[in-house]
Amino acid sequence: MLTSVIGYPRIGASRELKFAVEKYFKGESDREELNRVAANLRSAHWNVQKHHGIDFIPSNDFSYYDHVLDTAVLFNLIPERYRALELDPLDTCFAMARGYQGPRGEVKPLAMKKWFNTNYHYLVPEIEDSVQIQVAGSKIFDEYEEAKRQKLETKPVLVGAFTLLKLAKFTGRKKAEHVMADIVRAYQDLLNRLGKQGARWIQLDEPYLVTDLTPEDIRMFTELYRPLLSAKREVKVLVQTYFGDVRDCYETLQILPFDGIGLDFVDGTQSLSLLKQYGFAKEKTLFAGVINGRNIWASRYADVLQTIQDIQQFAQNVVIGPSCSLLHVPYSIQRETRLSKEYTRYLAFAEEKLRELSELKRILSDGNPLETEWYKHNEERFAGVRCEPDKEVRARVAALTDRDFTRLPERPERKEIQKQKFHFPALPTTTIGSLPQTPDVRAARAACRKKSISETEYKQFIFDKIRQCIRRQEEIGLDVLVHGEFERNDMVEYFGECLEGFVFTENGWVQSYGTRCVKPPIIWGDVRRSRPITVEYAVFANQLTNKPVKGMLTGPVTILNWSFPREDLSPKETAFQIALAIRDEVLDLEAHGIDIIQIDEAAIREKLPLRKSDWYEQYLSWAIPAFRLVHSGVKPETQIHTHMCYSQFGDMIREIDAMDADVITFEAARSNLEIVDTLKESGFQTNVGPGVYDVHSPRIPDVDEIKQAIRRMVRTLGSDGLWVNPDCGLKTRGEAETWASLRNLVQAAVEIRAELHS
Ligand code: GLN
Ligand code: ZN
Repeated sequence: MLTSVIGYPRIGASRELKFAVEKYFKGESDREELNRVAANLRSAHWNVQKHHGIDFIPSNDFSYYDHVLDTAVLFNLIPERYRALELDPLDTCFAMARGYQGPRGEVKPLAMKKWFNTNYHYLVPEIEDSVQIQVAGSKIFDEYEEAKRQKLETKPVLVGAFTLLKLAKFTGRKKAEHVMADIVRAYQDLLNRLGKQGARWIQLDEPYLVTDLTPEDIRMFTELYRPLLSAKREVKVLVQTYFGDVRDCYETLQILPFDGIGLDFVDGTQSLSLLKQYGFAKEKTLFAGVINGRNIWASRYADVLQTIQDIQQFAQNVVIGPSCSLLHVPYSIQRETRLSKEYTRYLAFAEEKLRELSELKRILSDGNPLETEWYKHNEERFAGVRCEPDKEVRARVAALTDRDFTRLPERPERKEIQKQKFHFPALPTTTIGSLPQTPDVRAARAACRKKSISETEYKQFIFDKIRQCIRRQEEIGLDVLVHGEFERNDMVEYFGECLEGFVFTENGWVQSYGTRCVKPPIIWGDVRRSRPITVEYAVFANQLTNKPVKGMLTGPVTILNWSFPREDLSPKETAFQIALAIRDEVLDLEAHGIDIIQIDEAAIREKLPLRKSDWYEQYLSWAIPAFRLVHSGVKPETQIHTHMCYSQFGDMIREIDAMDADVITFEAARSNLEIVDTLKESGFQTNVGPGVYDVHSPRIPDVDEIKQAIRRMVRTLGSDGLWVNPDCGLKTRGEAETWASLRNLVQAAVEIRAELHS
């Protein structure tokens, strides 16, 4: 039995890459230093896999920013506006990732979207009519060579032709069909070159295959791969799928001359039955994802061995591995010094998953697998009860009725009541919640953690920050203020820490996009709130000003989606437990005079199942009610806001309306406000604030640019109930750019208001 890894985390166990790249961005280090950090990381990643006896070690899974961007650049998919900057290849790449504002001009970055149903974001490649699709980059060859110099044979990986075309945006007249021949030629060229270099296998990632495919999609896939694979080649091709099963194209994959097919037996609920039904071609190798690549629980070998046994009934050549790239889990449990053995025995991060694979390999090669020490040791881990249920919480969830999910009176009536109460000007301005987390904020938090300042001193510091930012927001003239979220490291981690049922890591970082990492909490047991969480800071901020200050909470679905979920309790039950906890907080805020409460559901879209047939049953049927449960108890005059990070919710727009918030703000600027048309067409009822500028880049939008965005929104949606705000929270931005941008935002709103009145 051989083992294979689809991809390894790359940000560095201590986030070395993040810090190196950010330093480079700030001009505080040079290219050489950056390259050195990167090379060390690659080497460390390869070697840890080698150490655990992984047979197929990936290369080119490393990226300075994003692997989809890397694939685009490899094939010369660099839009003209970035070429015109005449930067060198790496800086061009960075300009595409985060925009550019400097001596050579000004450009916005590529759009960013969520990578399937994960919390990783990729940059959307653009294909212009004029582009010459061809192998133009050298990263994939360089990294293969680099590993080779270290005596490591690797399997270069990149995004496959089909997924690349499906994710790319065509900006001119051309469509996929017009570039297919060029794409095929470019991939062929790539295979040839890698073959010449000595590569034996190449892995083409085709996660798009696990989504609902139309007959045209399947035709397109075939038309790409039949010619691509037909040429004589020295390198074997593995088509790698993950995040689900390939029920729409299983037979197609069998027929096409792939040498290996990678299937997911964890999230792919039908993978095994497909295998049973159609068999598996004898000449091909099945790369079976048998341990969960995206959750942090240790595998129970008894179950994994059963799966492998089932698979082997139908496929002869089987290689085992994780179900997807390990990009989505932290590096290693060994870095967790604060978690006791009672916790860690149940956990497996990337490195522990490598160990699991190496142990499974040994167990499988033993004549008496169940008698091996590895197997027995694994069984011992799972002996006993992991955690006892919280009876009170269970009972509270069990007692919920329809009434608990319904806010009254209905929205139109609430709108009137709230209009009378708040008297906002047309196009009220606000922000999404967080303000820049400058180094002093992080330093104070760290000092408090290390106990080098007291809890009281820390609080005093936060109060000062709140005072300053309220003053600044007033001065700029925003209509609804925020307290700035300085006390929060992360919108989910913060709530997790204040609720019961969560477990935290010290170093469990996972890349979210570019240099941004998150440290998802682990939902360990039943969730409950045992004390108020945000009330003190909210009340403090609120009494500093006559303007309303929004209370700021994270919603249950986002807390769940951005945590590592339990596998022994349904997501529905978990979401309702969290919803009840947040509901208590909402009612507390209201009781303390907070009239506007924002409940962020930044991540509600991202766990929408990849297949439409699963949407309702597996997700929407409980995710939307979970949100309603949080706010159904408030008074009609309390205004409930929500925020979503992702404008791609056209497909669940009705459900979002049914969350029954009073106002929703969301990301829109980076995808050119396309969502506005969708809102119009669907007759969206919730008042909206589509973001007027992109916060994921340090660029400062000028007044005219923002005015244009507002005009476009007003033209389509009318000005009634329309809000003006940035795309998302501002915590990752610097002070100077933030206040300059917000000043422009308010100015733009004021000018458009005047236009409306004239
Ligand atoms: N209120 C949060 C903030 O401003 C929302 C962040 C998000 O949507 N990711 O930081
Ligand atoms: Zn957001």
